Amino acid sequence: MTRSGAFCPRCGDPIESDPGERPDHPEARDPDSVLCDACYFEEFDLVDAPDRIEVRVCSQCGAVHRGNRWVDVGAEDYTDVAVDVTSEALGVHVEATDVSWQVAPEQVDRNTIRMHATFTGVVRETAVTEEVVVPVKIARETCQRCGRIAGGSFASVVQVRAVDRMPTDEEEERAEAIAREIVAEMEATGDREAFVTDVGSVDGGLNIKVSTTKIGQKIAQRLVSEFGGSFSDSERLITEDEDGEEVYRVTYAVRLPPFSPGEVIDPDDGEGPVLVRSVQGNLKGTRLTTGAAYEASFEDGDAPDARRLGDREDGVETTLVAIEDEHAIQVLDPETYETKSIPRPNYLDADVDSVPVLKSRAGLHVLPSGGDEGDDE
Ligand SMILES: [Zn+2]
Ligand SMILES: [Zn+2]
Repeated sequence: MTRSGAFCPRCGDPIESDPGERPDHPEARDPDSVLCDACYFEEFDLVDAPDRIEVRVCSQCGAVHRGNRWVDVGAEDYTDVAVDVTSEALGVHVEATDVSWQVAPEQVDRNTIRMHATFTGVVRETAVTEEVVVPVKIARETCQRCGRIAGGSFASVVQVRAVDRMPTDEEEERAEAIAREIVAEMEATGDREAFVTDVGSVDGGLNIKVSTTKIGQKIAQRLVSEFGGSFSDSERLITEDEDGEEVYRVTYAVRLPPFSPGEVIDPDDGEGPVLVRSVQGNLKGTRLTTGAAYEASFEDGDAPDARRLGDREDGVETTLVAIEDEHAIQVLDPETYETKSIPRPNYLDADVDSVPVLKSRAGLHVLPSGGDEGDDE
């Protein structure tokens, strides 16, 4: 540490500055701190900057290569990335205090940004300013993940199918959305190995190819928890990787149940049509003749032997003409405008002027209106 009465080792002048003003921690000590002010400032550089900086970016997804890996920064404009990288690459002299800086990027060409950085600070009670110019080169590449996506790499495929029918548009759209949600959730935790490789329509449904078996399994689980049904998995040896490890591809075969909530079916048990309310576990629903609850047997599960009559959405409003008794009402047939006597379910509100009805092969039936028919979930 410099003391009053010391001499500058370079020029021999006596040193008069007060050493108490300087930073005191030894690891931050500048070897030049023993010099007099004149010699010190002769050598002094406020900013330590590299000659040039190269930033590797993925031209597909905007990821930036940092250290030895690709990092998602969601960059749309690489100027911000260049500013960040520049600020990390620039070093400020350890003895400087009250440092502030600003940087002005100058786009030279598509892949070159010239960074004009101006630093100010205080050293030995003297205000100092320094400007440095650092060219930042943007190297556009394809990151590992985008390369794998482009190459069609996948570790599992989810086959979305339905029993005795095609999956509906809603089910297929939801299946794809679930896949994207799961990938987004994993990406949000910094996982760059999560991606959807391909979503494609095939005979009988939809195939979703994804990067890991874990994602495939999650998609299958979430689909079944939303729509019912079941899934099975099967594993197939594809190849050995460069380290001789066996690489498996897992297929998750999802079978959505034959009926879905909102459908009207006839279980052919002589008690009339059923509006399906749930297909989680055993199929459950409401009898359109009485309003009583229906539940398929354990053996039938979510696939009782039943005819499909229509959908709740096919219902039309028609005039409620009269209440006959506790078991029957009269309504206008929405197609012929004849007055018909039909069963009176317990969910019917006798005070209304019109009711939604479904006309099907099984005849004319009153549908529950809105969500007023109770809930068996
Ligand atoms: Zn000196
Ligand atoms: Zn990429």
